[in-house]
Amino acid sequence: MDNSKEILNTSIEFLKGVGPRRAEFLRKELNIFTFKDLLFYFPYRYLDRTVFHKSNEMTDDKTLYQIKAKVDEIDKIKGANNKYRLHVIVRDNYGLVELIWFQGVKWVENQLVVGKEYIFFGKVEKGGSHNKMIHPDIEELNSDKSDISNFGHLSPLYNSTERLSKAGLNGRNLSKITENLLEKVKHIHFDDNIPDYILEKYKLIDLDTALKSIHFPKTDQELHVARLRLKFDELFFMQFRLIFNKLVINRKVKGIVFDKVGEKFNYFYNNNLQFELTGAQKRVIKEIRRDLQSGIHMNRLLQGDVGSGKTIVALMIMLIAIDNGFQACLMAPTEILATQHYTSISNLVKGMNLNIGFMSGSVKGKARKNILSSTKFGAIDILIGTHALIEDTVEFYNLGIAIIDEQHRFGVKQRAAMWRKTELIPPHILVMTATPIPRTLSMTLYGDLDVSVIDELPPGRKEIQTLHLFDARRMKLISFIKSQIKDGRQVYVVYPLIEESEKLDLMNLQEGYEMMLQYFPRPEYQMSIVHGRMATQDKDYEMIRFKEGKTQILVSTTVIEVGVDVPNASVMVIENAERFGLSQLHQLRGRVGRGSAKSYCILMTKYKLSAEAKERIKTMVGTNNGFEIAEADLKLRGPGDIEGLRQSGLLDLKMSNIIADEKIMVKIRDLCINILSKDPKIELPENFKLRKYIIENKQMFKDWSRIS
Ligand code: ADP
Ligand code: MG
Repeated sequence: MDNSKEILNTSIEFLKGVGPRRAEFLRKELNIFTFKDLLFYFPYRYLDRTVFHKSNEMTDDKTLYQIKAKVDEIDKIKGANNKYRLHVIVRDNYGLVELIWFQGVKWVENQLVVGKEYIFFGKVEKGGSHNKMIHPDIEELNSDKSDISNFGHLSPLYNSTERLSKAGLNGRNLSKITENLLEKVKHIHFDDNIPDYILEKYKLIDLDTALKSIHFPKTDQELHVARLRLKFDELFFMQFRLIFNKLVINRKVKGIVFDKVGEKFNYFYNNNLQFELTGAQKRVIKEIRRDLQSGIHMNRLLQGDVGSGKTIVALMIMLIAIDNGFQACLMAPTEILATQHYTSISNLVKGMNLNIGFMSGSVKGKARKNILSSTKFGAIDILIGTHALIEDTVEFYNLGIAIIDEQHRFGVKQRAAMWRKTELIPPHILVMTATPIPRTLSMTLYGDLDVSVIDELPPGRKEIQTLHLFDARRMKLISFIKSQIKDGRQVYVVYPLIEESEKLDLMNLQEGYEMMLQYFPRPEYQMSIVHGRMATQDKDYEMIRFKEGKTQILVSTTVIEVGVDVPNASVMVIENAERFGLSQLHQLRGRVGRGSAKSYCILMTKYKLSAEAKERIKTMVGTNNGFEIAEADLKLRGPGDIEGLRQSGLLDLKMSNIIADEKIMVKIRDLCINILSKDPKIELPENFKLRKYIIENKQMFKDWSRIS
């Protein structure tokens, strides 16, 4: 069977019906380079060819319909370019359709006989007094033709693109060349990659059958089992690869051993910690400690909703590193956040004789030199900062652990850069995120990370009440804010920031600010304003005034989205809330509810809202649970927008849908873990096919040559 590979690797150009020009477009538009690529270009939908539409039911423009109709009139018309075109009027009992051919006029003319009934299948063009179809397919009624596309009752529909269609490959033509391909590979057997025992266990058909029937299935049942098999393949090999590579990393990469929980950790726990840790915090600290003692490099994701208390966990973990004689660093995505971490951590470790350093783009000149050299010579215990930390100029004496806060703003690259900060053994990595990610996603996105979850908020937190108000009821908002301020509380007012129109946003913010000034005049009220275009010192100045309670209202753009901690603030007003995404709304809401007072999140919107915006608002009002929000978000937006997803390969899935197929995915993941823990080098005879797959796809499996 080994000529199969050769044929499948043939350039698509050489397929009947393609040629160099169309091949060029197939490559550019659909990434189809070879026969194999086309074989794996699956239909997005199937049309039931047993259903005939009535001519007066073809209501959607540019949609495929099939009608049974009698030929009424055939006209051959000579165009200005001296070329003939064919206009054919056909009728069924409900009306008439005009069919038009610009090409193959003679052939079509010979096919059709006035008064005879045919099946026509094509895209409807609406407009004028009647519907038209350009170049529909013709099929004789009761024909005994058994050309495969029409043999079954399901006809495949393929996505084409505008440019590809112009080059002569619309959806229908893609179907035709796929038919040519299947004819060509009819006698080839596609070897299976999945071992028999798995196929049996999950009652899956073999790959050969699946690939050959997915394009032109004869029955629904045939389609169903083919789909199931191809979906399984896709998810299986994705998980298999991820888990294989992760095991290899674990086997290979040594980690610094932190076997002591020593003086600093204990001192902090007994003297400086002002509250009891939550059960979840204790649990994740234990999980992380276990990693740190194991001798294997840690690469862990710490998920915890806003306000769940990740900072304390980060600090205590860093203290363990210090107790073992190593340095630690903490990186945050913005200057404000990094500063805040610096301030709060410096406060938390007061009296412990630790050196905390700060590094960001705004640390310059002599101060920068000082920090750089004391980091390099080990005088700094904890270095806190922005992404400036990963610059090459920042060298550590002995970095033991790097903690990265709010990971959705950084990427895999930044994590990798941290690895290179030490020479022999890489520092342990802990990534913290407040973006709750549904299980399927984190399983795939962070397949190389272990995951810990803080699923409990510190006690005494009052549920945040979320309200939706239309702009018309602003007076109600104003009097509510006044009453809260009277009770000693503070208030955030946030305006959206949309990158394309920064100017406009600033105007919104300015206007909003001026409006607020009228309702909340000085000196009775004090207001801070913060936006992205302000100089860092000015921003910090305003923030600090708010933090210290010198101002009661903070008007800002979304710069406060992440991590800002002002426990006395109890009201979050979000203006134009319809312009925010769900996870952003949730992040913003997390800025309040941090103190002991009951807190409110008020979503202001205009009256007219899109269906999606309504759904977002409804979700926000309905739940405070970050995971529920994340699920809803994923359902509303689809997974396409989630950062990091593009690189993950998840978007390349052709058959599966990470939301709809969550259950299968979890099962398959367990299966892969099972296989790999029983047979980590894939040596057992029963896994021979997997071994073969790995060898054929070596580049995707880390260090295969070294293990095998
Ligand atoms: P996040 O997970 O969003 O980063 P933080 O670490 O900023 O949350 O913590 C939010 C607030 O909760 C802080 O003021 C912190 O001091 C407080 N906090 C953290 N853990 C506890 C706890 N176990 N009990 C009481 N308060 C806590
Ligand atoms: Mg935080």
